[in-house]
Amino acid sequence: MSLSLQFLGTGTSVGVPQIGCTCPTCTSSDPRDRRRRTGAYVRTQDTAFLIDTPPEMRLAALELGIVKVDAVVVTHCHMDHIAGFDDVRRFNTLNGSPGPDGRIIGASMPCFAAQETIEDLRHVFPYITEHANEQGLFRPMIDFTPVEGPFKIGDVTLTPLPVEHGPRTNGYLIESGGARFAYISDCSFIPDSTLALMGDVDVLVLDCLRERFHPTHLNREAALGYVERIRPRRTFFVHLCHDARHAEFEATLPDGVRLAYDGLEVRG
Ligand SMILES: [Zn+2]
Ligand SMILES: [Zn+2]
Ligand SMILES: [Zn+2]
Repeated sequence: MSLSLQFLGTGTSVGVPQIGCTCPTCTSSDPRDRRRRTGAYVRTQDTAFLIDTPPEMRLAALELGIVKVDAVVVTHCHMDHIAGFDDVRRFNTLNGSPGPDGRIIGASMPCFAAQETIEDLRHVFPYITEHANEQGLFRPMIDFTPVEGPFKIGDVTLTPLPVEHGPRTNGYLIESGGARFAYISDCSFIPDSTLALMGDVDVLVLDCLRERFHPTHLNREAALGYVERIRPRRTFFVHLCHDARHAEFEATLPDGVRLAYDGLEVRG
């Protein structure tokens, strides 16, 4: 395995099924129609990190057996991508070591994001910074690192892929051992300067909310337009809403383009 990406979740901000909805997707018996909020777990032989901490990150980690997390990478500061951030505490503990009295001293978690996203995270979770010098694992211990250009997590090189979505938003190019993945979960427009960074991609993960137009997400037509331009070997659409019933929607897609589903692992 040179590079593995597993989907923590693949749904839009309210999740699928939506609370109180009786539509065919929300009542479907196909497990692929049950979508947690979108995020990913990326790993190599040596390195593992989360892309975003969606609200069901804890449940996904339990279901998928995730115990190793070396870093957290954040795309943007919408709640469907950060509201599981407090649960990073558990990885502070797992990565920690026993102190003189035998109690675990947590290890701070490296967190990479755009500067604006880090400022928003500090604002949404003020207790992380306000209690940074206190003992105890009642708040996540985070080592925030702003990123503009390429950076490394272990044997993986990541490059921010700035896109338009609303707040400052990054996708990420993820490279290790000759494999090259691009991950853009939330996006309404990809600038040419970002497309220029995305040549020769093995796997593209791309926002595709639904068939109909949406002002801050790609719909099917727009997403397929970017697939034509980027020409990845394989594409997986994410951030799907309940308009998209897995089996029916996937049947409309061309060769090489699939819908992601929760727990799916893609290797390159
Ligand atoms: Zn989102
Ligand atoms: Zn529904
Ligand atoms: Zn968003």
